[in-house]
Amino acid sequence: MGSAGPQFDIFSDYQNTIDGRLSSTKSTRHGVNPATGKPNPEVPVSTQEDVDNAVAAGLKAFESWKKTTWAERAKAVSAFADALEKHKDDFAKLLTQEQGKPIQFAQGEIAAGFTWLRAFLDLELKEEVIKEDDEKKTIQRYTPLGLVVGIVPWNFPVHLACGKIGPSVLTGNPIIIKPSPFTPYCDLKLGELAQQFFPPGVVQVLSGGDDLGPMLTAHPGPAKISFTGSSATGKKVMESASKTLKRITLELGGNDPAIVCKDIDVEATAQKVTSLAFLNSGQICLAIKRIYVHEDVYEQFRDAAVKFAQTIKSGEGNEEGVFLGPVQNSMQFEKVKTFFSDIEKEKWNVAVGGKNDDSKPGYFIAPTIIDRPAEDSRIVTEEPFGPIVPLLTWKDEDDVVKRANNTKMGLGASVWSKDLDEAARIAKQLDAGSVWVNTHLEVDPHAPFGGHKESGIGYEWSKGGLTAFCNVQSLFLKKKV
Ligand code: NAD
Repeated sequence: MGSAGPQFDIFSDYQNTIDGRLSSTKSTRHGVNPATGKPNPEVPVSTQEDVDNAVAAGLKAFESWKKTTWAERAKAVSAFADALEKHKDDFAKLLTQEQGKPIQFAQGEIAAGFTWLRAFLDLELKEEVIKEDDEKKTIQRYTPLGLVVGIVPWNFPVHLACGKIGPSVLTGNPIIIKPSPFTPYCDLKLGELAQQFFPPGVVQVLSGGDDLGPMLTAHPGPAKISFTGSSATGKKVMESASKTLKRITLELGGNDPAIVCKDIDVEATAQKVTSLAFLNSGQICLAIKRIYVHEDVYEQFRDAAVKFAQTIKSGEGNEEGVFLGPVQNSMQFEKVKTFFSDIEKEKWNVAVGGKNDDSKPGYFIAPTIIDRPAEDSRIVTEEPFGPIVPLLTWKDEDDVVKRANNTKMGLGASVWSKDLDEAARIAKQLDAGSVWVNTHLEVDPHAPFGGHKESGIGYEWSKGGLTAFCNVQSLFLKKKV
């Protein structure tokens, strides 16, 4: 096993993990606590040399890791999950400090991390006999691809990293995790912790600046890039990976619609739908980003949504009762504020919110509902990735389905109704990788997670997701020459 980690202290000494060891860099940088604007500790800025070293170590590790059995790999992943659970409170604290999400949601994300790692243990890809007769046997089997690079965004750094580490190493592939420069802390510590359970080079983590992702995708060593982030970056990853025909899985942006039918409990649905738009301050690929409400219940729904939004408490994530933390970083803060500038320009009606208090430190945005903006306005067609959401009306089923699908994105969608036949009929017409009835955002490590259209290529999690870390091989065994 690797040497880093026996004196595991989550709150200091953030270093890369390369070839089983903690590794520092000449230059360093730091993230910012988004609730206070205060700097977080220094972290490494990896260079091309660090990338070369990590890739070499990963390729070396692959030679022996690919020969281990599923049971051996599962034992290591299971012990890693247990260790993450053991340190869950500290990880959650650090996550709130670097990402901004309220502590109860940070705890939820860490729990999702170890729950997902454990769930993958059930998904062994066994050899399958496709056909057998007296003369021959044909077997379908999966072989590992090689070294994987997992690129992670800043909204769920731990959950999404665990969702890549588990499937990759369980299928026999070492992995290098590259966190977002905005949220490197928990992921660096995940890498350090992993050294207690995996041989050197099997789980490595490199932090760096904006040039680190391109260095990794362009490197000829890795066999696959598992990327989660925006659609714009996903296209760059695909272009870069194409030079060496690396395998790719792209989990990208979304613009999820929620279609609310007239046959609902208005108060309860308005509260649930609105909270699913504002959760994680709207910074979830699968957050509800457009709410289509049947015109018969529109006003009642809007008023209930406003009433709920007015009860939402924003603040630093450790304060009692906080539901809404800050937006994660200054770049995102400025981007979300452009939608607030549009309010006056576009003469949008604001149902609630609409004004931000810039006098306080931290990247706080007031939860905001825009009442019936034009269907072609930016707030409807783009992903704000902040706590601002449009409410729209509908009356004709075909029309609302067409409007819900009228986007390049296709990540998630939901339908809300007491009439389950109606809901299922509408849901099945929606072009999205995950479709829900009477909920949204509820994901499962055993179910495929991926996007249609520009929301992604391929999918992760589930048994099928694990196959994306493998080559498929047909083995033809002739019983006699
Ligand atoms: P982003 O695309 O800016 O960055 C994602 C990651 O890619 C970061 O680690 C970043 O450093 C890295 N990166 C940036 N440029 C790169 C390049 N040229 N080559 C390789 N890597 C590069 O996304 P973000 O702002 O961190 O995250 C928000 C976006 O992610 C939203 O669009 C959201 O919908 C999406 N997202 C999707 C999912 C999903 O599973 N579909 C999950 C979470 C977030």
